[in-house]
Amino acid sequence: MYSANRRRNIEREERMARRGQRERAAGKLLQKIPDLESLSLEIRETRPNASTNDTQYIRRVVVEHAHALFEMPCSYSSCDNGGYDATQEILSALAARSMRFEGECVCRGSCGGEFCSRILRYVATATYRPRSDVS
Ligand SMILES: [Zn+2]
Repeated sequence: MYSANRRRNIEREERMARRGQRERAAGKLLQKIPDLESLSLEIRETRPNASTNDTQYIRRVVVEHAHALFEMPCSYSSCDNGGYDATQEILSALAARSMRFEGECVCRGSCGGEFCSRILRYVATATYRPRSDVS
């Protein structure tokens, strides 16, 4: 349907515009964590009551260009406004120079009037440059 597709496109554009605003507000990752050298996130998305159909992927963060914003999309196509926000946890772990840390978030979206409640678990691996203020 033309109108449904069009509505979907508009919604997607609005979401992307909002995301762009949040990214600009969050600032660059290297401004917050100047010593960060590399970061990758191993992401596993699960549904409660269904251990099959897990979604799993690795997200390598391009540290030089990344914003200080860690929002992951919900991979469930019927999920409305879905997504996970691990920004605060990840930033505080990076500020503590953790080499490996993990956590989980619940999807904040809804599908068919109910909470999506998918769970995203992440395992982060990070490396850091030697502190520049040590001489
Ligand atoms: Zn969802």
